[in-house]
Amino acid sequence: MKPEFVVAIDGPAGAGKSTAAQGVAAALEGFRYLDTGAMYRAVTAYLLRFDKKDASENEMAEAAEGLELRAGKHFVHGVDVSDALRTPGVDAEVSRVSALPRVRRVIQGKQREQRGRIVVEGRDIGSVVFPNAAVKVFLTAQLSERARRRHRQDPVQSPDEVQASIARRDAIDSSRADSPLIVPEGAHEIDTTELSIEEMVERIVSLVQAADA
Ligand code: C5P
Repeated sequence: MKPEFVVAIDGPAGAGKSTAAQGVAAALEGFRYLDTGAMYRAVTAYLLRFDKKDASENEMAEAAEGLELRAGKHFVHGVDVSDALRTPGVDAEVSRVSALPRVRRVIQGKQREQRGRIVVEGRDIGSVVFPNAAVKVFLTAQLSERARRRHRQDPVQSPDEVQASIARRDAIDSSRADSPLIVPEGAHEIDTTELSIEEMVERIVSLVQAADA
């Protein structure tokens, strides 16, 4: 069993990354799970809470400096924003905040401090944050299926609104200059449109077991 082992899971919104990453971490011995989207969401939630959505890039990076993960909760400068991570307001603003290079440097630095055996999900994990990850996976699924999953998880918005929101986020995340959403070199691409959760997790677990031998 290797003491340092990164499984990088990237892909667009609703492709199944969180479910896959949590399932893989639970199925394998000694792995932790890191949701990097939640880190950008926490910074965005903090900015929205204090009416700073139009703050300068420097102020946003300063907010990012204050991010701490403690006991599964997200704090920014001591404020617990965990309950606000998945609101439509954060959905609407997070890609604008996460596109800013100074914000990304701070958050990516915090991600690289993580050690040990970890399953990390995000947009730039295999390409930029952990380019030497032992296993890289890129999950995709058809847009309509991704919207259906997100809507089922959280039916606050109509299915059409959810689809428009994730399509908009994907467009910003894929086209930004700094660490855009791409298929990382060496990644295993898995289309999850027709896969069950168990099948998706099993495929990734097999890849990890082969690389961990
Ligand atoms: O994964 P999730 O959908 O929660 O991510 C929210 C947003 O955070 C993404 O749409 C993207 O703008 C940003 N993000 C990022 N890089 C990551 C993870 C998420 O830019 N590694």
